[in-house]
Amino acid sequence: MVRLAVIDYDSCHPDKCGNMPCIRFCPVNRGGTIAIEPSEEKKGKPVIYETTCIGCGICVKKCPFEAITILNLPDELERNVVHRYGVNAFKLYGLPTPIPGKIIGILGRNGTGKTTALKILGGEILPNFGELDKRIEYDYVLRRFRGTELYNHFKELVDKKIRVIHKIQRIELIQRYVRGSVREALSKIDERGLLKDLVDTLSMQNMLDKNIRELSGGELQKLAIAAALSRQGDLYLFDEPSSYLDIKERLKIATSIRDLVPPNTKILVVEHDLAVLDYISDYVSIVYGEPGAYGIFSKIYGVGAGINHFLQGFLPAENMLIRKEPIRFLEKEALEESSRLSEKKILVSWSRLEKKLGEFSLEVEDGEVYRSEILGVLGPNAIGKTTFVRLIAGELKPDEGETTSIGLRISYKPQFITPSEIGGSEDDVVEDFLKKKAPELLNMESWIYIDVTRKLNLHKLLQKRLGELSGGELQKIAVAVTLAQDADLYLLDEPSAHIDVEDRITVAKAIRRSVENKSIAAIVVDHDLNIIDYLSDRIIVFKGEPGVRGYAESPKGLRKSMNSFLSMLNVTFRRDPKTKRPRMNKPGSYFDRLQRELGEYYYTPKEEVFE
Ligand code: ADP
Ligand code: ADP
Ligand code: SF4
Ligand code: SF4
Repeated sequence: MVRLAVIDYDSCHPDKCGNMPCIRFCPVNRGGTIAIEPSEEKKGKPVIYETTCIGCGICVKKCPFEAITILNLPDELERNVVHRYGVNAFKLYGLPTPIPGKIIGILGRNGTGKTTALKILGGEILPNFGELDKRIEYDYVLRRFRGTELYNHFKELVDKKIRVIHKIQRIELIQRYVRGSVREALSKIDERGLLKDLVDTLSMQNMLDKNIRELSGGELQKLAIAAALSRQGDLYLFDEPSSYLDIKERLKIATSIRDLVPPNTKILVVEHDLAVLDYISDYVSIVYGEPGAYGIFSKIYGVGAGINHFLQGFLPAENMLIRKEPIRFLEKEALEESSRLSEKKILVSWSRLEKKLGEFSLEVEDGEVYRSEILGVLGPNAIGKTTFVRLIAGELKPDEGETTSIGLRISYKPQFITPSEIGGSEDDVVEDFLKKKAPELLNMESWIYIDVTRKLNLHKLLQKRLGELSGGELQKIAVAVTLAQDADLYLLDEPSAHIDVEDRITVAKAIRRSVENKSIAAIVVDHDLNIIDYLSDRIIVFKGEPGVRGYAESPKGLRKSMNSFLSMLNVTFRRDPKTKRPRMNKPGSYFDRLQRELGEYYYTPKEEVFE
């Protein structure tokens, strides 16, 4: 076994932990050999020597902030070390091999090295193979990869035969570096003469004359993708292309990436929306390991089988269990109107409603929300979803129609979150912020501590500052704070943004536990179709013209609502027979034609007949 010791230095605070118990209690240190000691380089924080540490795990238990991870990994893995960021830092094993003319999807938890791998394959990071004392040059890199499938890739990189186009994950950085209007920015880089096509397929007409500084998240994402596709490259890297986009836009970017990258180029896509990943990719590589500590890239699997292995938590080619529990999409009650809910009590009901707000008008069909229900919402941005919830909660008075309840308390998580948006500041320490906003999350006796704080791993973030958190970490805090409020109705707008598939499922379960324990309800807006399918009892579909006119149907069972929504988008989905996850049919394929004929755009109770 090889020892791996990783310290999360953002969580390590020697001034707060009671005189460095990690060092004081180390049995190796007590015996006179040094395994862990304060380091000047780390400003007095500890370093662990992996050669002398015996892996007893005492320091892990003694650290009150869970800053230390100690693992014992199999020896043979060491042959595959590709990179380590430093002493006691994250370690990456293996890389996916790009294949000309094919799209490789990358699927795995946040913090397991996906971005690192893209940067190495794109030549932005020189891999050091974990040899931290060595000065590494590309000659050495080539020697290390000789005889492997990756050799040719790195040889081309060294010979400057590859031009890399990287659609970065953090698109907000574009606003810092690029000035002027969208049209100006795109015209400058339109190397492939695709500008007109891109503007049409990605529906960018209305944003062309906007200044880049004024763009919304979704508009920035489309700009970033259009910019990448406008340029002529040999290796295209798309890091999370679907964030901030609604379902219709997600389908458009998936089709554009498939259709518009130049032929025979290499393409890698990191994506957490399984429907998008499934549609875009030819193959997938799964990254597994311990977030923040190490990540291992799997062999390459065919896309359908690979996503299924990931959901089932077992990789057959590696003979590796990557998760104890499979993720199951249930063919639940939702096949027809949910029978589970008919016995339940109504939380709020409403007649047909109308409301005008400035230039925007909303029409809502009659309906009701039951206690303990999760109502999924499908529809584009600015179509009146928030207005609808404020109407049924009695915060806004309708122009026409009425609701049975006024004064329902809403706990709301907005779509875009920043520290200030959730009522804090960049410098707030997470623990202090939670004490102020939602102390129940810190009460170890409460169900919410067990079901939410620990399940979402928030207890490991307590000593960090809000400004240091990743987008996904901040999202999980925002969801937890929303669920911890005393309320009658939760409204969560896009809780899946920036978080990985596992956390999306954990968040869905946390929402479920919260509504059931408190016997209240949640309305969840999300653009990840798999997640809406996973968590919703029923769904409301919003149609209309964003910013102008919204129309909300009555809440219905999954099949009817999805049918209504997908027929509008003109795409069909089937269920995977093994994992029951929804999969988009390729246009014109056998299932696509058959389901259109049957008028079943989602899936049909009869589908077993033709699976
Ligand atoms: P992913 O893309 O899968 O979320 P990343 O490749 O961004 O993962 O990061 C993997 C791990 O490496 C994370 O724990 C991150 O904190 C760490 N890491 C990333 N960049 C650096 C760096 N420059 N120095 C030290 N650690 C880093
Ligand atoms: P969603 O939640 O679907 O994104 P909202 O219900 O927040 O949409 O808003 C729908 C539309 O109504 C948007 O174009 C928004 O700008 C507009 N709107 C919302 N509140 C007001 C208001 N108080 N006055 C004028 N327009 C508003
Ligand atoms: Fe010391 Fe055990 Fe921690 Fe290693 S794991 S540093 S031996 S306490
Ligand atoms: Fe203190 Fe934990 Fe840091 Fe050790 S790792 S110095 S116990 S905060």
